[in-house]
Amino acid sequence: MSDAPIRIGVSACLLGQEVRYDGGHKRDPFLVETFGRYVEWVHVCPEVEIGLGTPRDPIRLERAGRDVRLVNPKTGIDLTRKMRTYAARRLAALEDQDLCGYILKKDSPSCGLERVRVYDGQGVPSRNGRGLFADALLRRCPNLPVEEEGRLNDPRIRENFVERVFAYRRLRSLFAGRWTIGDLARFHTAHKLQLLSHSPKAYATLGRLVARAKGMPRDRVRAHYGAEFMKALSELRTPRRHASDQ
Ligand code: SF4
Repeated sequence: MSDAPIRIGVSACLLGQEVRYDGGHKRDPFLVETFGRYVEWVHVCPEVEIGLGTPRDPIRLERAGRDVRLVNPKTGIDLTRKMRTYAARRLAALEDQDLCGYILKKDSPSCGLERVRVYDGQGVPSRNGRGLFADALLRRCPNLPVEEEGRLNDPRIRENFVERVFAYRRLRSLFAGRWTIGDLARFHTAHKLQLLSHSPKAYATLGRLVARAKGMPRDRVRAHYGAEFMKALSELRTPRRHASDQ
């Protein structure tokens, strides 16, 4: 496996950069002081990068029929198209960085992963949205380990995220060069206990895929195995499954 640094994308304000709408930051001590010792950050502030200043008017998500728009409620300016265009371009550029994970700032209309406030026509919020940049990230990189900083305060979720980051890196290494079905079978065997501790069902499904991989197009095998492997690891371990593997 490559000894290149493990690169993790991160909402810039979580590293202490003063890029928030109010000119402040949301420095996260665990990320900066602990996790940051082992990874190389690739920091991104979508709102600053689309040209909004710091400080700036707060922006928010608003429901418009079946769509959700990113809006400055004070001026009425709709930033949806600008953010979506930017996100597509920025995420394409990030592909060259070989990210192994991404940590997003919760509640943000740009970066929030889940339960972001979406305001209706009467200005009443529902907590059922996702930031526009976060949404574009998940669509473009569906297998990438992604978490919010708030959820990483839960030790089980934190452990799971770190585990997925390293597993994703190994998966990428496997598929980065010319790989054979034998390489895939060895990879699968090497991850047997890890997969079983998350999902015995997924381990069996992946095993069947490896067994019939010879007759399948390589791209399909890679896409299918990669998606199922990362999905399996995102299931939190239970003490029972973990004990059954000892
Ligand atoms: S949450 Fe995202 S958009 Fe908002 S300040 Fe932090 S990095 Fe910038």
